[in-house]
Amino acid sequence: AQERYASLRDKPATTLCGTTVSLTMNAGLMADLPSLAGSGAEGVGLFRTELQFLANRSMPRRGDLAKLYSRVMDAAQGKPVVFRTLDIGSDKVLPYMKRPDEPNPALGWRAIRVGLDKKGVMRMQLQALIRATAGRTLDVMFPFIAQLDEFRAARDILDREIERERRLGHTLPTQIRVGAMLETPSMVFAPDAFFEEADFISIGGNDLKQFFFAADRENERVRRRYDTLNISFLNALQMIVDRCHAFGTPLSFCGEDAGRPLEALCLAAIGLRALSMRPASIGPVKNLLRRVDIGEAREVIETARHSRQQSVREPINLWLTEMLT
Ligand code: PEP
Ligand code: MG
Repeated sequence: AQERYASLRDKPATTLCGTTVSLTMNAGLMADLPSLAGSGAEGVGLFRTELQFLANRSMPRRGDLAKLYSRVMDAAQGKPVVFRTLDIGSDKVLPYMKRPDEPNPALGWRAIRVGLDKKGVMRMQLQALIRATAGRTLDVMFPFIAQLDEFRAARDILDREIERERRLGHTLPTQIRVGAMLETPSMVFAPDAFFEEADFISIGGNDLKQFFFAADRENERVRRRYDTLNISFLNALQMIVDRCHAFGTPLSFCGEDAGRPLEALCLAAIGLRALSMRPASIGPVKNLLRRVDIGEAREVIETARHSRQQSVREPINLWLTEMLT
Protein backbone atom coordinates (compact mmCIF):
# COMPACT_ATOMS: atom_id res chain seq x y z
CA ALA A 1 0.00 0.00 0.00
CA GLN A 2 2.84 2.39 0.91
CA GLU A 3 4.24 1.82 -2.59
CA ARG A 4 0.97 2.64 -4.24
CA TYR A 5 0.68 5.85 -2.28
CA ALA A 6 4.22 6.81 -3.21
CA SER A 7 3.37 6.39 -6.89
CA LEU A 8 0.40 8.75 -6.39
CA ARG A 9 2.55 11.42 -4.81
CA ASP A 10 2.82 13.71 -7.79
CA LYS A 11 -0.63 12.97 -9.16
CA PRO A 12 -3.63 15.17 -8.43
CA ALA A 13 -6.58 14.04 -6.31
CA THR A 14 -8.86 13.98 -9.33
CA THR A 15 -11.99 11.86 -9.15
CA LEU A 16 -13.40 9.66 -11.93
CA CYS A 17 -15.87 12.43 -12.71
CA GLY A 18 -13.02 14.92 -13.18
CA THR A 19 -13.28 16.91 -9.96
CA THR A 20 -9.97 17.87 -8.39
CA VAL A 21 -9.69 18.23 -4.64
CA SER A 22 -6.72 20.10 -3.24
CA LEU A 23 -5.00 18.16 -0.46
CA THR A 24 -2.77 20.02 1.96
CA MET A 25 -1.19 19.03 5.23
CA ASN A 26 -1.49 20.13 8.82
CA ALA A 27 1.73 21.01 10.64
CA GLY A 28 2.93 22.63 13.83
CA LEU A 29 6.69 22.15 13.92
CA MET A 30 9.61 22.85 11.66
CA ALA A 31 10.20 19.08 11.79
CA ASP A 32 6.88 18.51 10.01
CA LEU A 33 7.98 20.36 6.89
CA PRO A 34 9.97 17.57 5.21
CA SER A 35 6.65 15.70 4.91
CA LEU A 36 5.51 18.34 2.47
CA ALA A 37 7.58 16.88 -0.33
CA GLY A 38 7.23 13.29 0.84
CA SER A 39 3.45 13.28 1.06
CA GLY A 40 2.69 15.19 -2.10
CA ALA A 41 0.74 17.80 -0.15
CA GLU A 42 0.09 20.98 -2.12
CA GLY A 43 0.94 23.16 0.82
CA VAL A 44 0.30 23.56 4.52
CA GLY A 45 -3.42 24.16 5.01
CA LEU A 46 -3.07 24.61 8.75
CA PHE A 47 0.08 25.56 10.62
CA ARG A 48 -0.79 25.43 14.31
CA THR A 49 1.38 27.98 16.08
CA GLU A 50 0.79 26.87 19.67
CA LEU A 51 3.74 24.53 20.02
CA GLN A 52 6.42 27.23 20.00
CA PHE A 53 4.54 28.95 22.80
CA LEU A 54 3.89 25.77 24.77
CA ALA A 55 7.46 24.49 24.51
CA ASN A 56 8.87 27.68 26.05
CA ARG A 57 9.22 28.62 29.69
CA SER A 58 8.52 32.21 28.86
CA MET A 59 6.80 34.12 26.08
CA PRO A 60 8.74 33.54 22.84
CA ARG A 61 10.34 36.62 21.33
CA ARG A 62 9.22 38.25 18.15
CA GLY A 63 12.59 37.83 16.46
CA ASP A 64 12.71 34.11 17.23
CA LEU A 65 9.19 33.57 15.98
CA ALA A 66 9.86 35.54 12.81
CA LYS A 67 12.93 33.38 12.17
CA LEU A 68 10.98 30.19 12.66
CA TYR A 69 8.06 31.28 10.44
CA SER A 70 10.51 32.36 7.80
CA ARG A 71 12.22 28.95 7.89
CA VAL A 72 8.82 27.31 7.53
CA MET A 73 8.16 29.44 4.44
CA ASP A 74 11.60 28.56 3.03
CA ALA A 75 11.00 24.86 3.62
CA ALA A 76 7.66 25.09 1.80
CA GLN A 77 9.55 26.21 -1.32
CA GLY A 78 6.81 28.41 -2.69
CA LYS A 79 3.91 26.20 -1.69
CA PRO A 80 1.31 28.08 0.37
CA VAL A 81 1.40 27.93 4.17
CA VAL A 82 -1.63 29.03 6.19
CA PHE A 83 -0.59 30.21 9.65
CA ARG A 84 -3.20 30.06 12.35
CA THR A 85 -2.69 32.56 15.13
CA LEU A 86 -2.31 31.34 18.66
CA ASP A 87 -5.08 28.99 19.81
CA ILE A 88 -4.42 28.61 23.52
CA GLY A 89 -6.78 27.97 26.37
CA SER A 90 -9.01 24.92 26.45
CA ASP A 91 -6.61 21.95 26.38
CA LYS A 92 -3.51 24.11 25.73
CA VAL A 93 -2.32 26.14 28.68
CA LEU A 94 0.75 28.39 28.69
CA PRO A 95 2.62 27.88 31.97
CA TYR A 96 3.84 31.51 32.02
CA MET A 97 0.52 33.19 31.41
CA LYS A 98 -1.88 33.77 34.25
CA ARG A 99 -5.29 32.48 33.42
CA PRO A 100 -8.55 32.12 35.26
CA ASP A 101 -9.58 28.81 36.69
CA GLU A 102 -12.48 27.93 34.46
CA PRO A 103 -15.10 25.22 34.89
CA ASN A 104 -15.45 24.76 31.10
CA PRO A 105 -12.18 25.74 29.46
CA ALA A 106 -13.27 24.58 25.98
CA LEU A 107 -16.05 27.14 26.24
CA GLY A 108 -13.90 29.64 28.04
CA TRP A 109 -11.18 32.17 27.52
CA ARG A 110 -9.34 30.72 24.56
CA ALA A 111 -7.97 31.37 21.10
CA ILE A 112 -9.12 34.67 19.56
CA ARG A 113 -10.82 35.62 22.82
CA VAL A 114 -7.40 35.71 24.47
CA GLY A 115 -5.91 37.38 21.40
CA LEU A 116 -8.42 40.22 21.45
CA ASP A 117 -8.08 40.74 25.21
CA LYS A 118 -4.28 40.44 25.33
CA LYS A 119 -3.52 42.39 22.21
CA GLY A 120 0.20 42.57 22.95
CA VAL A 121 0.69 38.87 22.32
CA MET A 122 -1.40 38.90 19.20
CA ARG A 123 0.37 41.97 17.81
CA MET A 124 3.76 40.45 18.50
CA GLN A 125 2.80 37.25 16.68
CA LEU A 126 1.35 39.16 13.72
CA GLN A 127 4.49 41.30 13.48
CA ALA A 128 6.56 38.10 13.38
CA LEU A 129 4.34 36.72 10.62
CA ILE A 130 4.48 39.91 8.56
CA ARG A 131 8.28 40.02 8.82
CA ALA A 132 8.67 36.34 8.02
CA THR A 133 6.64 36.72 4.84
CA ALA A 134 8.17 39.96 3.57
CA GLY A 135 8.21 39.78 -0.22
CA ARG A 136 6.04 36.65 -0.17
CA THR A 137 2.38 35.78 0.43
CA LEU A 138 1.05 35.87 3.97
CA ASP A 139 -1.88 33.53 4.59
CA VAL A 140 -3.11 33.94 8.12
CA MET A 141 -6.26 32.76 9.84
CA PHE A 142 -7.86 33.43 13.17
CA PRO A 143 -9.10 30.56 15.32
CA PHE A 144 -12.40 30.21 17.08
CA ILE A 145 -14.24 33.16 15.58
CA ALA A 146 -17.71 32.99 17.12
CA GLN A 147 -19.19 36.24 15.83
CA LEU A 148 -18.56 38.60 12.96
CA ASP A 149 -17.08 41.41 15.05
CA GLU A 150 -14.35 39.13 16.37
CA PHE A 151 -13.14 38.58 12.84
CA ARG A 152 -13.33 42.28 12.12
CA ALA A 153 -11.44 43.17 15.30
CA ALA A 154 -8.71 40.63 14.58
CA ARG A 155 -8.36 41.84 11.03
CA ASP A 156 -8.18 45.37 12.29
CA ILE A 157 -5.23 44.52 14.52
CA LEU A 158 -3.48 42.92 11.56
CA ASP A 159 -4.17 45.97 9.35
CA ARG A 160 -2.66 48.25 11.99
CA GLU A 161 0.45 46.09 12.23
CA ILE A 162 0.85 46.15 8.45
CA GLU A 163 0.53 49.93 8.51
CA ARG A 164 3.12 50.11 11.26
CA GLU A 165 5.57 47.96 9.29
CA ARG A 166 4.99 50.16 6.29
CA ARG A 167 5.74 53.29 8.29
CA LEU A 168 8.91 51.68 9.58
CA GLY A 169 9.94 51.22 5.97
CA HIS A 170 10.04 47.42 6.17
CA THR A 171 9.36 45.24 3.18
CA LEU A 172 5.80 43.97 3.31
CA PRO A 173 4.30 40.71 2.13
CA THR A 174 3.37 40.96 -1.55
CA GLN A 175 -0.08 39.56 -0.86
CA ILE A 176 -2.05 39.10 2.35
CA ARG A 177 -5.03 36.78 2.70
CA VAL A 178 -6.94 36.84 5.95
CA GLY A 179 -9.13 33.90 6.85
CA ALA A 180 -11.33 32.72 9.66
CA MET A 181 -11.69 29.30 11.14
CA LEU A 182 -15.29 28.26 11.26
CA GLU A 183 -15.52 26.08 14.34
CA THR A 184 -18.55 27.23 16.27
CA PRO A 185 -22.11 26.53 15.10
CA SER A 186 -22.90 30.25 15.41
CA MET A 187 -20.88 30.95 12.28
CA VAL A 188 -22.84 28.50 10.16
CA PHE A 189 -25.64 31.04 10.63
CA ALA A 190 -23.42 34.12 10.52
CA PRO A 191 -24.49 37.27 8.68
CA ASP A 192 -23.68 37.25 4.97
CA ALA A 193 -21.00 39.86 5.66
CA PHE A 194 -18.85 37.22 7.34
CA PHE A 195 -18.69 35.13 4.18
CA GLU A 196 -18.14 38.25 2.11
CA GLU A 197 -15.40 39.76 4.24
CA ALA A 198 -13.28 36.69 4.96
CA ASP A 199 -10.67 36.08 2.25
CA PHE A 200 -11.06 32.38 2.98
CA ILE A 201 -12.70 30.13 5.53
CA SER A 202 -11.42 26.90 7.01
CA ILE A 203 -13.76 24.58 8.85
CA GLY A 204 -12.22 23.38 12.13
CA GLY A 205 -14.15 20.16 12.11
CA ASN A 206 -12.84 18.94 15.48
CA ASP A 207 -14.25 21.88 17.36
CA LEU A 208 -17.26 22.42 15.12
CA LYS A 209 -18.34 18.82 15.72
CA GLN A 210 -17.72 19.06 19.46
CA PHE A 211 -19.92 22.12 19.75
CA PHE A 212 -22.47 20.94 17.24
CA PHE A 213 -23.24 17.78 19.19
CA ALA A 214 -22.35 19.29 22.58
CA ALA A 215 -19.91 16.40 23.05
CA ASP A 216 -16.45 17.05 24.49
CA ARG A 217 -13.76 16.02 22.00
CA GLU A 218 -11.49 15.03 24.90
CA ASN A 219 -14.03 12.84 26.63
CA GLU A 220 -13.74 9.19 25.61
CA ARG A 221 -17.24 8.44 26.78
CA VAL A 222 -18.92 10.82 24.41
CA ARG A 223 -16.30 11.50 21.76
CA ARG A 224 -17.28 8.73 19.38
CA ARG A 225 -20.94 8.78 20.06
CA TYR A 226 -21.81 11.11 17.19
CA ASP A 227 -20.94 10.35 13.63
CA THR A 228 -19.36 12.97 11.40
CA LEU A 229 -21.51 11.49 8.65
CA ASN A 230 -24.62 12.11 10.71
CA ILE A 231 -27.07 13.86 8.42
CA SER A 232 -27.56 16.78 10.83
CA PHE A 233 -23.86 17.53 10.72
CA LEU A 234 -23.62 17.07 6.95
CA ASN A 235 -26.55 19.46 6.58
CA ALA A 236 -24.64 22.07 8.58
CA LEU A 237 -21.52 21.53 6.47
CA GLN A 238 -23.62 21.76 3.33
CA MET A 239 -24.93 25.10 4.47
CA ILE A 240 -21.37 26.39 4.91
CA VAL A 241 -20.40 25.11 1.46
CA ASP A 242 -23.41 26.79 -0.13
CA ARG A 243 -22.89 30.08 1.65
CA CYS A 244 -19.21 30.20 0.70
CA HIS A 245 -20.13 29.31 -2.84
CA ALA A 246 -22.64 32.15 -3.00
CA PHE A 247 -19.92 34.67 -2.14
CA GLY A 248 -17.06 32.98 -3.96
CA THR A 249 -15.22 32.53 -0.66
CA PRO A 250 -12.53 29.82 -0.79
CA LEU A 251 -13.35 27.08 1.72
CA SER A 252 -11.34 24.25 3.19
CA PHE A 253 -11.79 21.69 5.95
CA CYS A 254 -8.91 21.06 8.33
CA GLY A 255 -10.24 18.85 11.15
CA GLU A 256 -9.07 15.25 11.66
CA ASP A 257 -12.01 13.94 9.64
CA ALA A 258 -10.48 15.30 6.45
CA GLY A 259 -7.83 12.59 6.78
CA ARG A 260 -10.32 9.70 6.93
CA PRO A 261 -10.94 8.44 3.39
CA LEU A 262 -14.68 7.81 3.74
CA GLU A 263 -15.25 11.14 5.46
CA ALA A 264 -13.05 12.91 2.91
CA LEU A 265 -15.09 11.39 0.12
CA CYS A 266 -18.34 12.66 1.67
CA LEU A 267 -16.84 16.11 2.22
CA ALA A 268 -15.88 16.23 -1.45
CA ALA A 269 -19.33 14.95 -2.41
CA ILE A 270 -21.07 17.81 -0.62
CA GLY A 271 -18.81 20.32 -2.34
CA LEU A 272 -15.56 20.77 -0.43
CA ARG A 273 -12.62 21.22 -2.79
CA ALA A 274 -9.80 21.63 -0.27
CA LEU A 275 -8.93 19.32 2.61
CA SER A 276 -6.07 19.62 5.07
CA MET A 277 -4.87 16.62 7.04
CA ARG A 278 -1.92 14.82 8.60
CA PRO A 279 0.70 14.09 5.95
CA ALA A 280 0.25 10.31 6.35
CA SER A 281 -3.42 10.59 5.36
CA ILE A 282 -2.79 12.24 2.01
CA GLY A 283 -1.96 8.98 0.20
CA PRO A 284 -5.01 7.02 1.42
CA VAL A 285 -7.40 9.93 0.83
CA LYS A 286 -6.04 10.61 -2.65
CA ASN A 287 -6.16 6.92 -3.50
CA LEU A 288 -9.86 6.71 -2.70
CA LEU A 289 -10.81 10.02 -4.33
CA ARG A 290 -9.14 8.94 -7.57
CA ARG A 291 -11.28 5.79 -7.68
CA VAL A 292 -14.72 7.29 -7.20
CA ASP A 293 -17.34 9.35 -8.98
CA ILE A 294 -18.35 11.91 -6.39
CA GLY A 295 -21.45 12.79 -8.38
CA GLU A 296 -22.66 9.29 -7.56
CA ALA A 297 -21.60 9.67 -3.94
CA ARG A 298 -23.60 12.87 -3.84
CA GLU A 299 -26.70 11.02 -5.03
CA VAL A 300 -26.25 8.42 -2.30
CA ILE A 301 -26.03 11.25 0.25
CA GLU A 302 -29.07 13.02 -1.22
CA THR A 303 -31.10 9.81 -1.07
CA ALA A 304 -30.02 9.19 2.51
CA ARG A 305 -30.99 12.73 3.44
CA HIS A 306 -34.55 12.01 2.45
CA SER A 307 -34.67 8.52 3.88
CA ARG A 308 -35.29 7.49 7.45
CA GLN A 309 -31.62 7.18 8.20
CA GLN A 310 -29.62 9.14 10.73
CA SER A 311 -26.22 8.79 9.14
CA VAL A 312 -24.87 8.48 5.63
CA ARG A 313 -22.18 6.05 6.73
CA GLU A 314 -24.00 2.82 5.99
CA PRO A 315 -25.39 3.70 2.56
CA ILE A 316 -22.13 5.29 1.44
CA ASN A 317 -20.18 2.27 2.66
CA LEU A 318 -22.52 -0.08 0.82
CA TRP A 319 -22.23 1.92 -2.38
CA LEU A 320 -18.46 2.05 -2.06
CA THR A 321 -18.08 -1.67 -1.44
CA GLU A 322 -20.19 -2.43 -4.48
CA MET A 323 -18.28 0.05 -6.56
CA LEU A 324 -14.81 -1.10 -5.65
CA THR A 325 -15.43 -4.85 -5.88
C1 PEP B 1 -10.28 21.91 14.59
O1 PEP B 1 -10.86 22.36 15.58
O2 PEP B 1 -10.81 21.12 13.79
C2 PEP B 1 -8.90 22.30 14.28
C3 PEP B 1 -8.37 22.04 13.11
O3 PEP B 1 -8.18 22.93 15.23
P1 PEP B 1 -7.65 22.23 16.57
O4 PEP B 1 -7.78 20.74 16.39
O5 PEP B 1 -6.25 22.70 16.73
O6 PEP B 1 -8.58 22.77 17.58
MG1 MG C 1 -10.09 24.04 16.70
